Amino acid sequence: MMSKHCLMVGAGLSGAVIGRMLAEAGHRITIVDARAHVGGNCHTERDAETGVMVHIYGPHIFHTDDAEVWDYVNKFETFLPYKNRVKTTSQGAVYSLPVNLHTINQYFGQTLRPDEARVFLESKADTSITDPQTFEDQALRFVGPELYEAFFKGYTIKQWGCQPTDLPASILKRLPVRFNYDDNYFYHKFQGMPENGYTAMIEAILDHPGITVQLETTVSRDQAAQYDHVFYSGPIDGWFGYELGRLGYRTLDFERFDYQGDYQGCAVMNYGDVDVPYTRITEHKHFSPWESHEGSVLYREFSRACGPEDIPYYPIRMVAEKTLLQEYVDRAEAEANVTFVGRLGTYRYLDMDVTIREALDCGRRFLAAQAAGEKMPAFTVNPL
Ligand SMILES: Cc1cc2nc3c(=O)[nH]c(=O)nc-3n(C[C@H](O)[C@H](O)[C@H](O)COP(=O)(O)OP(=O)(O)OC[C@H]3O[C@@H](n4cnc5c(N)ncnc54)[C@H](O)[C@@H]3O)c2cc1C
Repeated sequence: MMSKHCLMVGAGLSGAVIGRMLAEAGHRITIVDARAHVGGNCHTERDAETGVMVHIYGPHIFHTDDAEVWDYVNKFETFLPYKNRVKTTSQGAVYSLPVNLHTINQYFGQTLRPDEARVFLESKADTSITDPQTFEDQALRFVGPELYEAFFKGYTIKQWGCQPTDLPASILKRLPVRFNYDDNYFYHKFQGMPENGYTAMIEAILDHPGITVQLETTVSRDQAAQYDHVFYSGPIDGWFGYELGRLGYRTLDFERFDYQGDYQGCAVMNYGDVDVPYTRITEHKHFSPWESHEGSVLYREFSRACGPEDIPYYPIRMVAEKTLLQEYVDRAEAEANVTFVGRLGTYRYLDMDVTIREALDCGRRFLAAQAAGEKMPAFTVNPL
């Protein structure tokens, strides 16, 4: 096999995982990132003053059912047990999320058992809505007006910057309620936190003699021809200089504040009321329950429309964005030697485990294409 020189644009999980696989197969890999650190949006940093491991771009909890992905991350970093248990402050009280039997009993002042709670909630649900079109319809149909107002409406307005009547029903696919006391936010079999943070894990993935990392380096389309192949994990519209317009994103502002002691007693406290401007507060030291720190680092999280200078976080993916995305996908498919990967390259929200799964598959596809003398496609997953 002829060794190729590949460029990975982005030193997040996508670039690191693909780069590692190709380096292990004997290819030469250059990984660049515009930022001063590796890790992409999963980047973690130990705070110099308090010693707390801070999730710089917002809280990241690892959870998956994918055994290969779980084995993969455990090869590069020790994962310690962590279960995400989220609370929410709403209408002057604190409740457990996701909405579960405790939340229902507390909210309505009841002592219902699971079967009784089902019947009770059905009596609250708006059964006149037979064909829910919007998020609001769907929520009212599932849980009725009280729980909708307390736990879904305000948070959704703040998160997406629009009314729930303007969002599609498909956002709430299933009944968002548990009829037991399970308050583990995720259902996945494997859950944990990297002992030394995600950046240490990604540094270990990148630690291979075939990989060179260049930070604070921005790559654009005109540099692609210098490489045999490019894997691009930046924004797909950015690759084309935003020629057709910008794909819509929500961005986040994190307002940091420090505290001596334990500020809120949990890692994540949501705020459901619309008159509280932030969506949640995260207290980072609770993401590392095996550590002990006197000082505490907290983030108030605000969501707003993403401007040209902001970090794109959540793709909006409504009809207008998908139409524009289709045009960029057509352009991408006409590129000679570029594969678009990851959350920004494919304009999708991807959890870390899905990102790693797709990166492993993408790396294998490249190796298979090389072996067969075939062209590597622009996408190994359909972004639409
Ligand atoms: C607020 C938030 C919370 C999240 N929480 C969780 C969670 O709890 N659990 C979970 O599993 N997942 C979570 N995720 C998802 C997780 O962040 C992603 O799965 C992961 O970051 C995707 O990795 P990536 O490599 O595709 O993209 P990124 O991490 O975004 O990496 C892309 C990199 O490319 C670089 N780049 C872009 N363009 C260029 C260019 N032209 N030149 C050079 N460099 C460039 C960027 O600087 C960036 O570092 C969360 C995401 C967000 C937004």
